[in-house]
Amino acid sequence: MIPYGRQSIDQADIDAVVEVLQSDWLTQGPSIERFEAAMAARHEAQHAVAVCNATAALHIACLAVDLGPGDWLWTTPNTFVASANCARYCGANVDFVDIDPHTWNLCADALEAKLITAEQAGRLPKVVVPVAFSGQSCDMARIKLLAQRYGFIVIEDASHAVGASYLGRPVGCGDYADMTIFSFHPVKIITTGEGGMVLTNRAELAERLRSLRSHGITRNPAQMSEPSHGPWYYQQTELGYNYRITDIQAALGLSQLHKLDAFVARRRELAARYDQLLADLPLQLPTRQAGAESAWHLYVVRLKLDQIGKTHREVFEGLRTAGIGVNLHYIPVHTQPYYRALGFKDGDFPNAEAYYREAVSLPMFSGLSNQQLEVIVLAARKVLGG
Ligand SMILES: *Cc1c(COP(=O)(O)O)cnc(C)c1O
Repeated sequence: MIPYGRQSIDQADIDAVVEVLQSDWLTQGPSIERFEAAMAARHEAQHAVAVCNATAALHIACLAVDLGPGDWLWTTPNTFVASANCARYCGANVDFVDIDPHTWNLCADALEAKLITAEQAGRLPKVVVPVAFSGQSCDMARIKLLAQRYGFIVIEDASHAVGASYLGRPVGCGDYADMTIFSFHPVKIITTGEGGMVLTNRAELAERLRSLRSHGITRNPAQMSEPSHGPWYYQQTELGYNYRITDIQAALGLSQLHKLDAFVARRRELAARYDQLLADLPLQLPTRQAGAESAWHLYVVRLKLDQIGKTHREVFEGLRTAGIGVNLHYIPVHTQPYYRALGFKDGDFPNAEAYYREAVSLPMFSGLSNQQLEVIVLAARKVLGG
């Protein structure tokens, strides 16, 4: 089976991890700061805070802006559940904004319309989480204007978009978001095994994030309620978590970062090949949003079912049977039983639901060979009757 995604690990990665294993520090050592500094520099952000996974990153990003009971967080239904769950961890409410039927990203027009209604109802969101679906930014310039007009905080879930750019600047640079979240899960662009990060240009948020990832503990005398008792002294000033990343993971991340540009270049090459070789099949291929250079975490096609004569499920299972590890991103979050129990129902976000009935993610990872891609295209031709 050709998987839909997988990590690329080379000898340099292995050597970097072994070196940490033989050092004095397995966690809270020098590799974490090095990884953070290198990521901040590469993505032109002031601050980078590494944590144990992107779900934890989303959680502490919400806490850092004091999202809590009575507040609202809005995101897209076409995402992994973590983009919404972060609000629930904080006791806040979740609502969704339907997707654009072409980019499959949160639709800025729908966002504006919903904000107008919410303002009248006195129910504006405190946080909006645009997700750079498949590695392509949302219309962030427009979302930023709306954030200024309606006063919400933008936490960009760029789990798919490490190495992507938007209007000529790296995703994560902070031009359009208060905080940007990256994931380093093995199927994502670069990996640390498990891992995540928050990038921000706001120093006070970075400080808060560092506290929240490590129990709410500070060793900075300026933040203490009384003079230090001595060199051992620390204070817990708020309720935080142990969301730290290890030095072992950070060393892997730093080694992977050296290959980020090559990984993204290869993904772009594969996407261009898919575009070319699938052009004559009954498929809607990915649309490019003007100004956004995708990192191509996913290559998703939508089936033109009226022309295919098979069901979505038959096509999906036909490809799996042919050894193609297709996947589906995403089941609309509002249709999950947990969210249905909060009152969401079928029909709430029709564009995301229609997308779900037709979408298939084809294999996409930097180690995919041209020959494997041809096998995939051939299988698609056969299953789709092209
Ligand atoms: C992978 C992913 C996450 C969660 O990442 P973890 O590092 O596995 O916690 C969050 N949001 C999106 C959009 C993702 O794809």
